[in-house]
Amino acid sequence: ATPTALMVGTGRGAQLGILIKGPEVLENTRRADTVVLDKTGTVTTGKMTLLAVHTAEGTDEAEALRLAGALEHASEHPIAQAVAAGAADKVGALPAPEDFANVPGLGVQGVVEGHAVLVGREQLLAEWVIELPAGLAAAKREAEAEGRTAIAVAWDGEARAVLEVADAIKDTSAEAIRRLRALGLTPILLTGDNKAVAEAVARQAGIDEADVIAEVLPEDKVEVVKRLQSEGRTVAMVGDGVNDAAALAQADLGLAMGTGTDAAIEAGDLTLVRGDLRAAADAIRLSRRTLGTIK
Ligand code: ADP
Ligand code: MG
Repeated sequence: ATPTALMVGTGRGAQLGILIKGPEVLENTRRADTVVLDKTGTVTTGKMTLLAVHTAEGTDEAEALRLAGALEHASEHPIAQAVAAGAADKVGALPAPEDFANVPGLGVQGVVEGHAVLVGREQLLAEWVIELPAGLAAAKREAEAEGRTAIAVAWDGEARAVLEVADAIKDTSAEAIRRLRALGLTPILLTGDNKAVAEAVARQAGIDEADVIAEVLPEDKVEVVKRLQSEGRTVAMVGDGVNDAAALAQADLGLAMGTGTDAAIEAGDLTLVRGDLRAAADAIRLSRRTLGTIK
């Protein structure tokens, strides 16, 4: 490409809300044939709300909310913020945890008011050999069938509650995915979330059920990208989270949501400033135009 074409291309990109790290990025943008989309915060708004609380027999709902909310208050995860805000709404001020740790892709664990508390996926509880009682397992299944994320809460070695949180798909996502398809790209949804929830989002977004890759731990997202590359695909990855950074760096083209974390933005080749997925399609169209006109 001539310097003039590149200048025009990157200048138009900036107008469209696309920041390009360097002109060398355009070639991979043009060649991409597969687009891997992170779910939470990328296809969905990432703004979750706490919708319902299910407790085990003998568990006080207010106590479950206080302990879970206190722990989640210390985490920046969108689910954590929904749980903390919903809990504070219902039970008032939350205590400060005595101990806290993030378990990436699984949840949080720590100590609140002397209780060892876990909040997150069923798998996090399983690591401590804690199972959901039948009533809570049923509540979890029903929530997930509705496309909601079910979060388990345990303390002192027992599962005591299931919290339902939900996150809406962005109103621009379905159109963006139609445009990406029109450019010849295959969209794939990649998420650490549950399969049923991921499939519900995929349906709304217009992604094929066969192209949903769910329940992937943060460190394994990069392996998914490598596998797709080994199949001969040129992979664009769009993400927003700390948990997407390695996959964004591995992808032939990393697109970071400008509304996302600094880690994602640093790892990406391109930033979609407004967090609007339609800009991903604009970027690909623009790079094809920029590089195509100057043969
Ligand atoms: P995504 O890949 O969709 O951005 P993550 O990898 O961040 O999602 O999280 C995967 C799953 O792990 C979430 O859907 C949730 O079930 C669970 N999880 C992660 N962090 C938390 C947390 N702080 N509290 C509760 N659950 C969590
Ligand atoms: Mg995300």
